Amino acid sequence: MKIILRALYLPNFIERNVWECEIPKQSHSLAAINFDRLTDSGIQGIIIDLDNTIISEDDRYMSPDAIAWIAQAKKLGLKLFILSNGKRHYRVRYWSDYLDIPAISPAKKPFPAAFCKAMAAMELAPERVVVIGDSLHTDILGAWIVGCSHIQVASLPHPPRWWEKLIGKYVQTAYPVDRELWEFQSSNYFKNN
Ligand SMILES: [Mg+2]
Repeated sequence: MKIILRALYLPNFIERNVWECEIPKQSHSLAAINFDRLTDSGIQGIIIDLDNTIISEDDRYMSPDAIAWIAQAKKLGLKLFILSNGKRHYRVRYWSDYLDIPAISPAKKPFPAAFCKAMAAMELAPERVVVIGDSLHTDILGAWIVGCSHIQVASLPHPPRWWEKLIGKYVQTAYPVDRELWEFQSSNYFKNN
């Protein structure tokens, strides 16, 4: 009887675990996220965090190959939208213009309003959208509330805020010390691009 049950279960098991490409829940960086895994899962849009996901909040470090990864996402037809809790409007607008991705700030994540606005702007349902960010209590919790898939990336190094000194290790993943990190020097960078 057990053998029959296993035989009946096997095709489902294979289908769910081998053929179906599930979206990973974590990645050490943006550029390490595989587009095939996203598109095979039906993802058509990406809501992305800015601070410590693409660029450190003090503008010192950039996630390696983030610009190329974003360009590739656009090339594949994926829609992008930045949700930032950053209160410095001018800075978020600067990055929004530079990356040519619409943005809302402050997005007040994890509250759902900005997530819903972003999905409405992209004209996509939650199951077609993945949220990528570095913080559990804002990006990932917000994604979970509105029903989107989510990927938590490691936080780019940045000066810790007071609350991060207390609970940072519980809600963020430290950037791996053995991984490449790009120093962002705006004057040089923009001269060459
Ligand atoms: Mg962040």
